[in-house]
Amino acid sequence: MPARSVIPLVAQRPAGLPVPLPPADTRVQAVDGVQGQTGPVDTRGRPLRDLRISVTDRCNFRCSYCMPREVFDQSHVYLPQDALLRFEEITRLASVFLKQGVRKIRLTGGEPLLRRGIEDLVANLAALRSPDGQAPDLTLTTNGSLLARKALALREAGLRRVTVSLDALDDAVFRKMNDADFPVAEVLAGIDAAQAAGLGSIKVNMVVKRGVNEDQILPMARHFRGSGVTLRFIEYMDVGNTNGWRLDDVLPAKDILQRLTAELPLVSLPPTTPGETAQRWAYADGGGEIGIIASVSQAFCGDCNRARLSTEGQLFMCLFASRGHDLRALLRGGASDDQLGAAIAGLWRARDDRYSELRGAATAARGQPVGAVDAASAPRVEMSYIGG
Ligand code: SAM
Ligand code: SF4
Ligand code: SF4
Repeated sequence: MPARSVIPLVAQRPAGLPVPLPPADTRVQAVDGVQGQTGPVDTRGRPLRDLRISVTDRCNFRCSYCMPREVFDQSHVYLPQDALLRFEEITRLASVFLKQGVRKIRLTGGEPLLRRGIEDLVANLAALRSPDGQAPDLTLTTNGSLLARKALALREAGLRRVTVSLDALDDAVFRKMNDADFPVAEVLAGIDAAQAAGLGSIKVNMVVKRGVNEDQILPMARHFRGSGVTLRFIEYMDVGNTNGWRLDDVLPAKDILQRLTAELPLVSLPPTTPGETAQRWAYADGGGEIGIIASVSQAFCGDCNRARLSTEGQLFMCLFASRGHDLRALLRGGASDDQLGAAIAGLWRARDDRYSELRGAATAARGQPVGAVDAASAPRVEMSYIGG
């Protein structure tokens, strides 16, 4: 039996670090302005701009790189309902985050479309405004399995954009990767429904695993070229502790690019916003653009402006963190909005995380791959819990 099948997942959801309650007379000041906006700045000069909210730790897929079936099996215990942040709690926290500089909110999970009434949460979040009167750039990442059914309701609720994860066009490869025997045709129908519903600038994320779906790079590019959908290739990452990650399984960005340009000439595009994760490329013939997210081979911690709110209200400062900060206790303990804002600002100002950069440096120093376990001393939380 492989060792990873006995990893106790409960240990990977450690209790959140307690967040001290700021004094009751706290008034949040708009300070630390950077990039023309206010809000806290961390120890490396990075502002807080992007909030990813995990709305469920459940999923109907078992992608081997995220929720391998041998670990997330029948006996896996999901969070109980009362542990999850309620929609009012998520909305209230989001409004506080907007006052701290957040401009982009992504709903994720687990599979966010499995959370009952998700459209109601979308409507609540779409109605929020930043202090300068802007609506948040609200988006959602989904495996697409329920998108054909939900796209219109999501658009009507105020969702602006959507990212769909799809790892292959070949049905057999896709069914194997989702390990739930889910057909590719239904995800493609979901993407069509999202386009028809007016969910503009749709992105498709493809995690590339060497020897598993690398032969799908060109078919995926050919399929989405000229469709208005932006395909993004993601290097397979060492998130969590259960996916058995090895550097050998990563197809680096430069190899992905080489495969593409062998058939489809590309020209480099500048980033649209600071902290953007994907390197952008345009098809030379005007057929749209693609992105490559080189999270392993070219770490982009330097301008990382992302915070993650877990399903049960823990705030994580990095995708690879091992502990989160328990905002739910503050929320349910009667903290005011100003107290919550001051607590979030204090946590962000103390932030020093740059896991991918350190892993890259350690690999270079040793002259050999530094694996998931060597690179960090403590076990990391799973992506399905913290939110991708
Ligand atoms: N269930 C939704 C989905 O799959 O789109 C949202 C949650 S999922 C954790 C968010 C994103 O993380 C997906 O695009 C998925 O492909 C990506 N992801 C998960 N595990 C990954 C890994 N080990 N390396 C790179 N990307 C990963
Ligand atoms: Fe589910 Fe998304 Fe993880 Fe796949 S990547 S197992 S769809 S949460
Ligand atoms: Fe941001 Fe952490 Fe990823 Fe670096 S490793 S880019 S700090 S989430």
